[in-house]
Amino acid sequence: MANSSNPAAGVDNTFRRKFDPEEYLQRAREREEKEQAKSKSKSKGPPVERQPLKHRDFEVDLESRLGKTQVITPIAPLSHQAGYFCKVCECVVKDSANYLDHINGKKHQRALGMSMRVERASLEQVQQRFEVLKKRKDSGSFTEQDFDERILKQQQEEEERKRLKREKKKEKKKEKSAEEETPELDPDVAAMMGFGGFGTSKK
Ligand SMILES: [Zn+2]
Repeated sequence: MANSSNPAAGVDNTFRRKFDPEEYLQRAREREEKEQAKSKSKSKGPPVERQPLKHRDFEVDLESRLGKTQVITPIAPLSHQAGYFCKVCECVVKDSANYLDHINGKKHQRALGMSMRVERASLEQVQQRFEVLKKRKDSGSFTEQDFDERILKQQQEEEERKRLKREKKKEKKKEKSAEEETPELDPDVAAMMGFGGFGTSKK
């Protein structure tokens, strides 16, 4: 029995082994204690159940900075470096292909709390999907409807972008005017007070 608690390589194990429940119970206890100590030292909770992969429900913006010029310094924050910046992982990827690879990749998905496993679809789900697609095809508006929807979505996105741009401009203007602190004067009054033009303090 002394042998079996220390199974080293090269030990003659051709004899009939006997299962000793006491010994294995002891081993299990030791292992549990070890694991507990380990998890305590790492102060980690139980392992997090990661979600299976799912569809991306947003458009990936690859082209908004296309054709634009930007000054880059080595000390600029990562988000202002050349390339595509990933907010989740705080890293820069040099081109669009690698960026797509990155956001589809293991590291990124892990950061989002997803495993790389894909949920297995049931037979019913597959059948339902086929039915939906078949119906769409039968009604003949599959491509047209799809197309219209896409255009509508693009238009909405474009409008949203413009709106954001306008807001940014407005804010900038506000900041500027607040900085200059130009009192709104009636031109006549300004002239009487000896101010030449618009908000200048020439005398
Ligand atoms: Zn990422």
